[in-house]
Amino acid sequence: DLVIGCAAGVLFSVLIGFFLAGHALVPIRRSWNKQQQFVADASHELRTPTAVILTRTELLFRHPQHTIEEESQNIALILKESKRMGRLIDDLLTLARTDSNQLQIHTAPVPLHLLLQEITEQFELLAEMRSIQIHSQFQPAEIEGDDNRLRQLFIILLDNALKFTPPNGSIKLTCHNSPHSVRVLVKDSGCGISPDDLPHVFERFYRGDKSRSRTEGGTGLGLSIAEWIVLAHKGTIHVTSQEGSGTEFQLIFPKKL
Ligand code: ADP
Repeated sequence: DLVIGCAAGVLFSVLIGFFLAGHALVPIRRSWNKQQQFVADASHELRTPTAVILTRTELLFRHPQHTIEEESQNIALILKESKRMGRLIDDLLTLARTDSNQLQIHTAPVPLHLLLQEITEQFELLAEMRSIQIHSQFQPAEIEGDDNRLRQLFIILLDNALKFTPPNGSIKLTCHNSPHSVRVLVKDSGCGISPDDLPHVFERFYRGDKSRSRTEGGTGLGLSIAEWIVLAHKGTIHVTSQEGSGTEFQLIFPKKL
């Protein structure tokens, strides 16, 4: 009886051990799968610009007697795809660093209204060229944050707002100061996001309207980076959108981290 009891005890412990080990491995397996998917998606995204650059360069070599003007279309395409690849690599590096916790924010007091004012001014010429009006209204507000990362965040949001708003549209940027937090709204009168796409826009490589986003040179990584920056500031980011009439991003930052 004693032997059977001991054997049953050992078997039970082994089974429990396997069960616990299996459970403990689930998050590791999930994160491994996520990484695998990230590498596969990244490679897939890099393949397109690489293929365009290669084939267009080969074409140039086929007609060494052609002038630059004659080949301007091919050269322009090579330049465009090289720029796209550069952007993609920058974004991929940023996300890889956030995944391995190598990217940290360096905080200091940031006058958010001044930062937003500067970025708005940077975008004004581009907006004017596309006949889009930018309206801004900033209450003085200071938060504890990383100046460079916050700039990167608002550039991503304004860049998208411009990209997805047709001529004669408008973009509204506001900053509202409360006792413990600051709320920033980035609202555009653009094409909006369909209800099917809306829950996915913060996912890596997700592009709503595939063809348009691709021709606009997007990487599908902007909003993933934007979300990481907001979370690193212990803030929140929400998007609401009406297809055909516009999109609004609402961000709330605590004043102290
Ligand atoms: P992308 O490089 O394609 O802009 P993002 O991660 O920044 O990638 O955005 C993901 C997708 O979310 C975009 O492809 C687009 O479909 C949608 N999106 C983001 N911002 C807007 C906006 N202001 N108006 C309409 N759609 C938007």
